[in-house]
Amino acid sequence: MENIDVNKIREEFPILSREVAGKPMVYLDNTATSQTPMRVVDEITRIYTRTKANVHRGVHTLSQEMTDLQESARERIRRYINADSIEEVIFTRGTTEGINLVASSFGSRFHKGDEIILTVMEHHANIVPWQLLSDRTGVVIRVVDINERGELDLEQYRSLFNERTVMASFCHVSNVLGTVNPVKDMIAFAHSKSVPVLVDGAQASPHLRIDVADLDCDFYVFSSHKMYGPTGVGVLYGKRKWLEEMPPYQGGGEMIGKVTFAHTTYADLPFKFEAGTPDFVGIAAFSKAIDFIEEIGMERIAAHEHELMEYTQQEMTKIPGIRIFGTAEHKSAVISFLIGTDHPYDLGLLLDKQGVEVRTGHHCAMPLMDRLGIPGTVRASFAIYNTKEDADAFLKALRRAAAILG
Ligand SMILES: *Cc1c(COP(=O)(O)O)cnc(C)c1O
Repeated sequence: MENIDVNKIREEFPILSREVAGKPMVYLDNTATSQTPMRVVDEITRIYTRTKANVHRGVHTLSQEMTDLQESARERIRRYINADSIEEVIFTRGTTEGINLVASSFGSRFHKGDEIILTVMEHHANIVPWQLLSDRTGVVIRVVDINERGELDLEQYRSLFNERTVMASFCHVSNVLGTVNPVKDMIAFAHSKSVPVLVDGAQASPHLRIDVADLDCDFYVFSSHKMYGPTGVGVLYGKRKWLEEMPPYQGGGEMIGKVTFAHTTYADLPFKFEAGTPDFVGIAAFSKAIDFIEEIGMERIAAHEHELMEYTQQEMTKIPGIRIFGTAEHKSAVISFLIGTDHPYDLGLLLDKQGVEVRTGHHCAMPLMDRLGIPGTVRASFAIYNTKEDADAFLKALRRAAAILG
């Protein structure tokens, strides 16, 4: 953990010094959403108190300032993910909307009997939009299984491709198992069969350097709120050749060229996919979250989180009856677990009573829970502002909870 002054970083997050149940709060639900540094909150306040005006609509000063803020955020994000052009960076409400956009718009080219490859570890956001498409068009969903460590069965993945395969869509990092999938190789294989790929980057973007050019993915989606940014903002990266061919997803203002009742033409990229007033305040503030990440450096963030996760997981294995789900060789800082046959909800409540905030339940991945044969898990997940003291407080609370339930 050389060179990271976590206590200094924590100063940017006032929420971390609050109490829960009369104890210092330990926030370990970062996979659901991360906390937000003051520079992001300050930017939101600054815009609401100084600059708020609708984007792309007016010649007036405020509107132009606001448009500049939004569009420089787009350029900031383009650079951050190494996309070729700002036309390939579409603002959405989040990962969920990004996948729905692609399934609905790109999916309109698919036919009955065409096959889409997903994996059993997907979040509902990367399952249900494809099922809606399946209901509409009759496309067939094929599912890649996992091994006992929670890694994808890559042999099966390759074997699922055939002449009817039109799309593959999978997560970069599992929000339950923490597994980091070998997406670059998986994309290369899909491309060798001329199949385009969407990567659900909701869990990768807070913990890994994202380089869409290096990955060569066709689509990549992620959410601001999981990477220290505001809620309600997400990004869809898409290769220009696809985005140009795709029909609009929603209709309305901002996304049009010329509207008459006889015929409407659409705006150029990226605006074709941005109907209505976007969350321009959130978008502008999101770029401050990227500044925050880049100032520390993603490699150092990942190393810090990984060290905490390894330490915590190692200590957890000493607790009698503990079951950890997801022990992949390449794993992000997420630990899903159960103790004996105790219900995850009871464990979560006992931890909360000790100030420890963790997730319990199916984590929007019911098919994965079915595959694992469990109703849900307790999930602890780390971010850059977590400390060894957090890990120890969690472990202590967990041992107590285990003793109470046991
Ligand atoms: C959180 C998450 C989503 C959904 O993201 P939203 O921000 O809720 O739209 C999708 N996939 C994975 C892997 C996630 O962790």
